[in-house]
Amino acid sequence: MRQGCRAAACRFRLLALAAAVAAVIGGCAREPKSGFPPPAVRPSILLVTLDTTRADAIGPEAVGITTPAFDSLAARGRRFRQAYAPVPETLPSHASMLTGLYPSGHGVHENGRSLVATHPVVAEQLKQAGYSTAAFVSTYILARRFGLARGFEVYDDGLPAGLSERRASETTDAVLAWLPAASPKPLFLWVHYFDPHYPYEPPEPYRSRYPGRPYLAEVASMDAQIGRLVQAFEQRAPGPVAVVLASDHGEGLGEHGELLHGNLLYQSTVHVPLAIVGPGVGPGVSDQPVSIRRVYHTILDWAGLEARHSLRQEGVEVVLGEAMKPFLNYGWQPQVMAVDGVHKLILAGRVEMYDVAADPGETRDIANEPGRPPEPAALRDYAPPSPAAARAPDALDAEARRRLASLGYVSGGPAPVVRRDAPRPADMVRLFEPLERASGLFVAEQYAQVVPLYEQILVEDPYNIGVVLQLATAHSALGRDRRAIELFQKAAALAPDSPDVPMYLGLHYARGKEWLRAVPLLEQVVDRSPDRLPALEALAIIRERQGRAADAIALRQAIYRLREPSASELVRLGILAMDAEQTPLAIESLERARGLQGRAFAHDLELGALYLDARRLAEAREALDRVPSSHPAYPMALFKRAQVSVLLNEPDQSARIAEARRRADATTRDLVARERLFQNAQPR
Ligand SMILES: [Zn+2]
Repeated sequence: MRQGCRAAACRFRLLALAAAVAAVIGGCAREPKSGFPPPAVRPSILLVTLDTTRADAIGPEAVGITTPAFDSLAARGRRFRQAYAPVPETLPSHASMLTGLYPSGHGVHENGRSLVATHPVVAEQLKQAGYSTAAFVSTYILARRFGLARGFEVYDDGLPAGLSERRASETTDAVLAWLPAASPKPLFLWVHYFDPHYPYEPPEPYRSRYPGRPYLAEVASMDAQIGRLVQAFEQRAPGPVAVVLASDHGEGLGEHGELLHGNLLYQSTVHVPLAIVGPGVGPGVSDQPVSIRRVYHTILDWAGLEARHSLRQEGVEVVLGEAMKPFLNYGWQPQVMAVDGVHKLILAGRVEMYDVAADPGETRDIANEPGRPPEPAALRDYAPPSPAAARAPDALDAEARRRLASLGYVSGGPAPVVRRDAPRPADMVRLFEPLERASGLFVAEQYAQVVPLYEQILVEDPYNIGVVLQLATAHSALGRDRRAIELFQKAAALAPDSPDVPMYLGLHYARGKEWLRAVPLLEQVVDRSPDRLPALEALAIIRERQGRAADAIALRQAIYRLREPSASELVRLGILAMDAEQTPLAIESLERARGLQGRAFAHDLELGALYLDARRLAEAREALDRVPSSHPAYPMALFKRAQVSVLLNEPDQSARIAEARRRADATTRDLVARERLFQNAQPR
């Protein structure tokens, strides 16, 4: 894909969406003027990503903290003082570092989505080029399911039981335990540390060393792990060694009204530390603005695959970035930024401009001052999320949503339309905290507490699509149908194309007396997004209620391809399939349930009957022999067991027939009397 600044390649206006988006991968990087030849020997490459680490919190120029490991490594290579995250959120930013694309190119605009398989990931390319590849990540946000694991022979996203993150020390332990002492192939290793992410809970001695500054204490403790990791890598990785240290985004810490990150595009969250050390990298610092998406190009360059846009080369680029979470979730203005030399522009409804060299705190907006420099075209050429990308993540089940919510990320994804009069996120900072609190409560299904909070937010922000939809759902769950319907109608007017509105309305109807009204709505959702779990689940229940067993079964099978079924769900599917005479599926489902439940499994009678039906007699015998005599339908077990006995021509078949007859109940008496198998059975 070309990245030169040809007018045609850049002419994507705000409304020219879907197909065009993939082409805008790089904004408009100018071709670099000079370059180094590729390294003679391909180095082993270590990429260390430092979550939530501000540019001013690490390195020799950090304020109020010392980070010796980062400093000494950076001193051996090139440190970029004007590096930018393409988006202030973990998953999309890492997707950029691993694909070289901005979010408009790779399509992952916020956490909880996943990277589609059409974009090559750097690990795939290195693996193909003969590298061994491994990754160790420290948060559920980067778990394998979100699409970054491609090409990694090892992808360790193991987290301590019940937790959604692990400490840098634990991640480093895992890496060191794995790191091979000798390997013939060069190694590409990506290690991700999560410690400075909220909540700040630094270990000792860092907690005491930085009293009252837990965020910095977390960074300092992570820095010690960087030291351990780099040292081990340099000792054990084969060949020469190259290292990249980069943060995925910063942290607001209250600047511009933002405590955390993801909602705004100010320096606190997009200006990040970046350093590279390795063959062909002269020591020094660079003040040229660069995007950390070029980590991708740099790794390819070291591997001898492709030199373009490598950070080993001095090149001038207009750096781009975005923060679409408030747009995607609340319908506020989409936010795009461009950094051109010392000037940074933020487009969100209107343009702000700052001189980040003279005014790094971005306190003086010079957009309307006379003599300001012209806007780089790339700012308005940057495409907002396509409708498909804006759609809620399809296959995200309740458990995944809860885990993301435990880390502060809740994806509403109502696919809003761009409204000219939508509020600018920077003007809405007072709502950040209540919105995050309310979303957390919503995901935890604390509806009674959610309602007053959302009703209050709605007074201040009446067109907030995410709030309207979640509030409607909360009212619905609490049985307040009138207010729920009123809000669903409002949501439909705000986001006419959203698949979320018919889905939540369908779920609302599915819960109540008018459940048949849910059918066309849910059918429409499933038709458009076949992976939409909540719609599939509600429709499966309705099909069962309607007696449409085959449809219910097909829906349940689709659901369990998207998420793991529980043992009781497997039992339910087994019984459904049995009633619908789908014997092989019934056997498979019940056996899976038995594997999960062990001795607690209570459906050996059904399983025995199914095996008998399938003429798998030895298995039928085993299953029926497991039915306890306390089973309420034990006479049926005796009857079936006697049938199996005759078919297997067992020596005790007559005794079994006699027992089935003697202990018959109202259900089995006639069956036993009429069973032809029993009439010819002879004692031997
Ligand atoms: Zn992050």
